[in-house]
Amino acid sequence: MQKRTLRMTAPTHTVLEGGGFPVRRPSAMGSLMSPFLLLDEMGPVHWEPGQAIGAPAHPHRGFETVTYMIQGAMKHEDSAGNKGDLNPGDVQWMTAGRGIIHSELPQDDFLKQGGVSHGFQIWVNLPSKDKMMQPRYQEISSKQIPKVTSEDGKVWANIIAGSTLGVQAVIDTVIPITYIHMKIQKQGAHCQAIEQGLNGMIYVFGGTVHIEGKPVHDGQLGLLTDGDEVIFEAQEDDAEFLILAGPELNEPIARYGPFVMNNREEIQQALLDYQNGNLA
Ligand code: MN
Repeated sequence: MQKRTLRMTAPTHTVLEGGGFPVRRPSAMGSLMSPFLLLDEMGPVHWEPGQAIGAPAHPHRGFETVTYMIQGAMKHEDSAGNKGDLNPGDVQWMTAGRGIIHSELPQDDFLKQGGVSHGFQIWVNLPSKDKMMQPRYQEISSKQIPKVTSEDGKVWANIIAGSTLGVQAVIDTVIPITYIHMKIQKQGAHCQAIEQGLNGMIYVFGGTVHIEGKPVHDGQLGLLTDGDEVIFEAQEDDAEFLILAGPELNEPIARYGPFVMNNREEIQQALLDYQNGNLA
């Protein structure tokens, strides 16, 4: 078995997204980490009553948006007729495909009462042949998402996609994706298999994760070398992070706001379709 090590770390910067809510975003995404286009840690932010902000109606084409709530509550609605609430632990895996228009807003009671909002939105690219697929929508509640704890009790995982500690996710992905929320208690360790050839990375949002002696700190993206497996260790602190892996698509990326295609003509077509009401 070949061990994966830490290839590089990338810092995050805080930007305002949607209607103006703060996200932490690694700067290296998109160019380096095929098939992931974007990783946004939404918050954690404390909203006063009536102040929470979301993203009003907007289009997407050519990729998937994956929303994972940790704290707080969102509501969403889209042009394919899907609507619902996202509560802590819930995941919405939305394949925009040829086109969807949706809104992602604070849930009504949460907006009224205020509170802490924290979660992730990840954009997963689609291969050229699937970019114009029919939109697909999977909403998986927290209780449907498999959770597992290691024998020594030091490792906990919520398995959104892929597998860990012998447990497989329930969400169906277009291309093979690993997306795991993991916590390792101090002095704990975990060996994660990531199939050779897939791009692998972690995003740390609590404590520090050590990989073959090198640290990845809170708010850093750690890109892994190739190999079959990787060992994550927590030392003096508890560590909390996402594990992400997927195939290198090796296709050109043309990106304009909420549209991610392979060339400029396809972007222009997406804009035209949106303007003419033919996107979704
Ligand atoms: Mn969106």
